[in-house]
Amino acid sequence: MECLFCKIVDGSIPSKKVFETENVLAFEDIDPQAPFHVIVIPKTHIASAAEINRQNSAVMSEIFEVIAKIAEENQLQDGFRVVNNCGVDGGQTVEHIHFHLMGRRRFGWPAG
Ligand code: AMP
Ligand code: ZN
Repeated sequence: MECLFCKIVDGSIPSKKVFETENVLAFEDIDPQAPFHVIVIPKTHIASAAEINRQNSAVMSEIFEVIAKIAEENQLQDGFRVVNNCGVDGGQTVEHIHFHLMGRRRFGWPAG
């Protein structure tokens, strides 16, 4: 398997784990864009948000349950930003669906 995040799931590439369930893994982003920045992924390979369908979508609700739990455990009560980059135009660089959970700073909208 050539996928970077699948290798993080199987442990062949190390990561700093923040939270884990049977189906979801959260780990620190290697190049943080905020004081708090973790990546939340399904353990099974789904390439991008464009690949979500009726058969694989259940893990998406689990991902958002995990995001709420991580926010609660890490004092993000003032809010946070969740980002999914999808495809070339979306700026996706790792082709395993992932959600950026960022906090402890104020974010602009639509950029920054
Ligand atoms: P994206 O641009 O949305 O595809 O985001 C990919 C993210 O993965 C970037 O924020 C990278 O910093 C992060 N990343 C890449 N390699 C690693 C790694 N080995 N461990 C943790 N995060 C990584
Ligand atoms: Zn993968």
